[in-house]
Amino acid sequence: MQTSVIGYPRIGAQRELKFWVESYFQDKLDAEALLANAAQLRARRWDTQRQSGIDLIPSGDFSLYDGMLDLAALLGIVPQRYRALGLSPLDTYFAMAKGYQGPAGDVKALPMKKWFNTNYHYIVPEIGPEEPLQVVGTQLGDQFREALAQGILTKPVLPGPLTLLKLSNLQGRTPADCAPVLAASYRQILQRLGSLGADWVQIDEPVLVTDLSPEDIALLEQLYGALLEGPRTCRVLLQTYFGDIRDCYPAVMALPLEGVGLDFVEGRQTAALVARYGIPADKTLFAGLVNGKNIWRNNYAQTLATLRSLPLDPERLVLSTSCSLLHVPHTLQSERRLAEPVRRACAFAEEKLGELVELAALAAGDTSEGSAAALAANRALHQELRGSVDEAVRRRVAALQPADYDRAPRRARRAPLQQAALQLPLLPTTTIGSFPQTPQVRQNRNRFRRGEISQQDYEARLRQFIADCVALQEEVGLDVLVHGEFERNDMVEYFGENLAGFVFTQQGWVQSYGTRCVKPPIIFGDVSRRRPITVEWSRYAQGLTSRPMKAMLTGPITIVNWSFPREDLTPAEQATQIALAIRDEVLDLEAAGLRIIQIDEAALREKLPLRQSDWHSQYLDWAIPTFRLTHSGVRPETQIHTHMCYSEFEDILPEIDAMDADVISFEASRSSLEILRAIRETGFETAVGPGVYDIHSPRIPSHEEIEGAIRAILQAIPAERAWINPDCGLKTRGPAETEPSLRHMVAAATAVRGTL
Ligand code: GLN
Ligand code: ZN
Repeated sequence: MQTSVIGYPRIGAQRELKFWVESYFQDKLDAEALLANAAQLRARRWDTQRQSGIDLIPSGDFSLYDGMLDLAALLGIVPQRYRALGLSPLDTYFAMAKGYQGPAGDVKALPMKKWFNTNYHYIVPEIGPEEPLQVVGTQLGDQFREALAQGILTKPVLPGPLTLLKLSNLQGRTPADCAPVLAASYRQILQRLGSLGADWVQIDEPVLVTDLSPEDIALLEQLYGALLEGPRTCRVLLQTYFGDIRDCYPAVMALPLEGVGLDFVEGRQTAALVARYGIPADKTLFAGLVNGKNIWRNNYAQTLATLRSLPLDPERLVLSTSCSLLHVPHTLQSERRLAEPVRRACAFAEEKLGELVELAALAAGDTSEGSAAALAANRALHQELRGSVDEAVRRRVAALQPADYDRAPRRARRAPLQQAALQLPLLPTTTIGSFPQTPQVRQNRNRFRRGEISQQDYEARLRQFIADCVALQEEVGLDVLVHGEFERNDMVEYFGENLAGFVFTQQGWVQSYGTRCVKPPIIFGDVSRRRPITVEWSRYAQGLTSRPMKAMLTGPITIVNWSFPREDLTPAEQATQIALAIRDEVLDLEAAGLRIIQIDEAALREKLPLRQSDWHSQYLDWAIPTFRLTHSGVRPETQIHTHMCYSEFEDILPEIDAMDADVISFEASRSSLEILRAIRETGFETAVGPGVYDIHSPRIPSHEEIEGAIRAILQAIPAERAWINPDCGLKTRGPAETEPSLRHMVAAATAVRGTL
């Protein structure tokens, strides 16, 4: 039985790629060196996979920034405003990724969106009337040849045309008018790869696991009918992941494809679909059984049983990951401090390669000593594997009553009480919490971690950062201040480190977008708060100012969604334990004199099931009440804020309102103002702060630009319920951009306030 990897992590085990690309941005590395380094990294990734014994190793899954952006570049999907800058192809590519401000001009980045139900973000291609959709790039063939020169016949990978059309921002174009030329371009790519010697080419269509309309299925048939037409020397694998393809299974199986990749991990109905409809005799099934999203060891007995139950000969079966391994860290080998028994329960990308190979051998009936031992060890591991139990936590969860999930009085009655207590002006200005993590801030943390400075020194410096940050905000004229989050490396990791039940990696980085990585904690045991976490910092910061200080917490849904969850409890059970810990923190902050508390749910939408029919039953029905549990105990005068890093929640506005926060801030500057219209039309009650400028880009927004954004907001939202803020935390920005941006924001808010 052959083995296949859908995609491999690309940032490098030590995040090399991140540092190279960032050095390039800072002019510390030239283009040639960047590209040479990237080529070496690609070679290492291929070599690791070859050495593990993987048969179908991907190429083209590497990217300097993002795979959808690479596809756009390959197909010449470059909007005129980026072409007009007249930059090199590499710099044009980066201008689309992160905006450009310099001698050549001033353009914003393309929007960025969550990649299905993951914490990865892709750049949204913009297909306007001018885009010819013709193959202009050669990267895919180049990388295939690069690997060939290394002696590896890879399987080139690219996102498919349906996913491209469904995820792109079409401007003055329809899928129907794009389809013929797009299909012809894909056919050309297949021919080219075939002529270079590719055997399999993998076309990724994750969009097939979402709700599809009859028109979508017709478009699928049209696209693939055309692109698979005529003679071709390579075999085509249509790869799906992140769910099952229940809406289009028969349509996919009817296409003249040589291979179909199905996800047996997240695809709740995949096995049933295969049992019901079978796999046509002309096709190979790529069975995605090794989880590409979580870090626990595969359960061999279960996987082998699934493989045995499939109604086809082993020759027509390839064992695969369930999705790209992009979503797990590189390798356990970098982890020196990960203790047993967690360590032996884990498999990161590199270890998953070993699992694929062992499983394929076992599935093929290998009875060698090595295989038998691997199976026995795996069985023993899964018998012992249970997260640790804390009886006190279990009792507290069991004792929860419906009333614990509801805050009184109603929001409309709380609002005047809060206004009386806080005395804020109309259009209050604030930020989302973090301030720039300057080299000094990072150095302080690193030196403390390495034991080079004492806790006392470390904390003294933190107090200084906070004091400077508060002074700056007062001087800039913000109305609601923050302490700056200098004590936090990451909004989830920080809480995880201060809660029992979490385990940490040293190098377990996972790409979130572009050069940004996160290091998700691992939930291994029952979660509880050991002691107050943020209270002293917030109390100290409030003591420095008479303006309201907003305390900052991360919400339970985000903590679960951005961790690697355990598999012996449901996400709901894990989130409830965390919610109780956060609730204790909320009440302690209130007692310490904080009148505004923000509980970030940056990742709430990200685990919204991909199919609408699953939204409530699988997710919202527990996630929304679990959030309420964190704040239902506060006094009416205490104002609860929440924040979300995206604005696509038009379709769950009632649920967002039901979180019962007093104020919500969210990203709006990079996306359309669609959400504002929806907010106006649905009678959304929560006060809102739609981000008035994009913090993912180093551009400094002008006063006029922000004033325009504020006026657009006021078209939709009554001034009494509008807040003015950037669209996310400022930690990834430098002080040089942050200060003028905030000054422009405050000046714009003041100007508009004067006209109300
Ligand atoms: N309070 C966090 C910050 O400002 C929120 C970050 C986020 O939404 N991702 O950094
Ligand atoms: Zn955010």
